[in-house]
Amino acid sequence: MASQRHVNVGGVQVGGGAPVVVQTMTKTETANLAATMDQIRRVADAGADLVRVAVPRDKDVEALRTIVRESPIPVIADIHFNHTLALKAIDAGAHCVRLNPGNIGGPEKVAEVADRAKAAGVPMRIGVNSGSLPKHLHALERENSVEALVTAGVEFVRLMERLDFTDFKVSIKSTSVPNTIAANRLLSERIPYPLHLGITEAGTKWSGSLKSAVGLGTLLADGIGDTIRISLSTFHAEEEVKVAWEILKALKLRERGPVLIACPTCGRLQFDMDTVVADIERRLEAYEDPVEVAVLGCAVNGIGEASHADFGITGAKNEGLIFSRGKPLKKVPQEQLVDELFKEIDKYAQTKRIDVDAAEQAAGAEWLQRIEEENAGELTPERLAKLEAEKARADADAIDEALSPVDGRRFTRA
Ligand code: SF4
Repeated sequence: MASQRHVNVGGVQVGGGAPVVVQTMTKTETANLAATMDQIRRVADAGADLVRVAVPRDKDVEALRTIVRESPIPVIADIHFNHTLALKAIDAGAHCVRLNPGNIGGPEKVAEVADRAKAAGVPMRIGVNSGSLPKHLHALERENSVEALVTAGVEFVRLMERLDFTDFKVSIKSTSVPNTIAANRLLSERIPYPLHLGITEAGTKWSGSLKSAVGLGTLLADGIGDTIRISLSTFHAEEEVKVAWEILKALKLRERGPVLIACPTCGRLQFDMDTVVADIERRLEAYEDPVEVAVLGCAVNGIGEASHADFGITGAKNEGLIFSRGKPLKKVPQEQLVDELFKEIDKYAQTKRIDVDAAEQAAGAEWLQRIEEENAGELTPERLAKLEAEKARADADAIDEALSPVDGRRFTRA
């Protein structure tokens, strides 16, 4: 269930139906101002809406003052164990403070921070990770770790409500993907506050991205989650932002820049797809339009599978085809395929029009038809998938027919 309430983090709305907000965390020592600001600018360029910085020492609070002033995106101060630092971070202008009410030194200290935040109009993120549950929930954790996590989250929410502070979002995170999914599903039914989603210590760029895509993607597809952070073991925080965007783009929750689709390749591949796809992906990073670009490893199937793409390429031995929205644009020598593709994308970026030269289109269509005819008998992965889909449809129709009323008798599917 989507959150009913929202918070405003330095002008960015989180929750209440706002687009899912992308955030990340710097990996630099916060007090190292030059390195931290450099990383913040890079994550902002990559599309982060919010950035969080660790504030474990007084010198980090000092740096925070400047960071807040110079950052192109709102800054969240990440505080653990020390409520004085939370108070100082609010005074330094942090746009939001993240803390775990269970490790800040007791309810009185949480109250002090809540009062200061309220006076300053600064929202908080409160939350707990599976590794830092309060002691009284350890027995429940052994029995039912999901329920323990949700109970901790709800207890913190009730504490903040008793303190008359409701300007917060909530996170309950676990290293376990199934537990994260189950816990957030439950929590979203029990509280109306915005949810921050993440998988704790997800892992390397490869495994962490996959775990996050499965865990966060499942929740987001259910409409659960208002802001996400992908935690990856990399010093390049912008990588986390790129993964977050790919998840949101895949679910069509937000648009940012081009979408690249590519066939999985098979033995019919006609060019060095690995290099070409990587090259296209890298070059597309410079574009802002949400164009969809397709790369097909051969023209055996025509361009049917990628006919929705704004632009695409497909190749044969010496020649290739640039196509657009299901129609050929032009045939070009194989080695010019990528450059010619980008000429078309550039033209579109400037004019927002796709110009078609009728003669070039006709030559492309003829080339494509010849390739398709020459390979009409090939059982490609796409044709196999189509055959399987047709068979499944035929089977379903046959079952429906068998279950339809005959002589007044009605059968129903089990
Ligand atoms: S048959 Fe399909 S999967 Fe194989 S190279 Fe051609 S487009 Fe790619």
